Amino acid sequence: MKNPKFAFFEGKIISISEAKVDIRTSSLQYGTAVFEGIRSYWNAKTEKNYVFRMEDHYKRLYDSARILMIKIKYPIEELCDITLELLKKEGYTEDSYVRPFAYNSGLKIGPKLVGTEQDLFIYTIPMGEYLDTTKAIKVCTSSWARLSDNSIPPRAKVSGAYVNSAIQKTEALLNGFDEAIVLTSDGQHVSEGSAMNVFMVKNNTLITPPVYSDILEGLTRDTVIKVARDELNIKVIERPVDRTEMYTADELFFCGTGAQVSAIGNVDNRIIGDGSMGQITGRIQSLYFKLVKNEINKYSSWCTKV
Ligand code: PMP
Repeated sequence: MKNPKFAFFEGKIISISEAKVDIRTSSLQYGTAVFEGIRSYWNAKTEKNYVFRMEDHYKRLYDSARILMIKIKYPIEELCDITLELLKKEGYTEDSYVRPFAYNSGLKIGPKLVGTEQDLFIYTIPMGEYLDTTKAIKVCTSSWARLSDNSIPPRAKVSGAYVNSAIQKTEALLNGFDEAIVLTSDGQHVSEGSAMNVFMVKNNTLITPPVYSDILEGLTRDTVIKVARDELNIKVIERPVDRTEMYTADELFFCGTGAQVSAIGNVDNRIIGDGSMGQITGRIQSLYFKLVKNEINKYSSWCTKV
């Protein structure tokens, strides 16, 4: 795996080793930054790299920035151009990840969103699997709740909000699980995973928590909903999900840019289905891996060639 060589920082592409922030940086102190995670897929057959849903990720970055009152100096088109230029310069021949980060770059003490300088950087990094997608993983319900819209809005991808994710993921790992499922802030319903959305299959229908269940409105979630309906003719319902509904699901899976489509075979020590990847999950996963590599013509507008 190669280390990245470049970063877009303070308005230009420079060596990543020179891209450094001041220790007084406001967003480093207070977590007041918004970011994205975008994947670029290496298609070994065509020997080309494709960035998946790049423009949609930058649209979400703009939405997150609006919530946090961060002004992004570069239009979406320019952010896409910078991303492609960075990836071209790196010349990866493997899957990689793009991290745009818009932040309060001022140096004054005090957490606030106004009266501080703001900037944006982007870097890329080679990235393989975040979760094992070849088997069904084992998860627990976290004892930690998800954030809520009137604390740190989960709809925005805020850097400081990932304390919530880190605390959940760490608890799960230290207790011998692969991942955590997190309940809404009122403890009533399933929200999502520590950094991925969740779907359940019941009676051949896909069910996923709605946007008002404290979730990040995932682009992979959107991709799964679209391809399940349009390509697999599967009914999809967005509705609140109870914790124990998961225990009696036919199939369960996570999805996200990092997680991709990852089967869950065990929740809170209850086996889901026969404990291995379910049939519908398998069909969605194989479709997903094809379309991100620009192997399905109909979805080629989602794939930008590097
Ligand atoms: N929820 C959280 C908290 C996340 O960090 C992510 C990853 N960005 C997701 C869900 C999935 O979102 P996406 O499919 O857009 O990557």
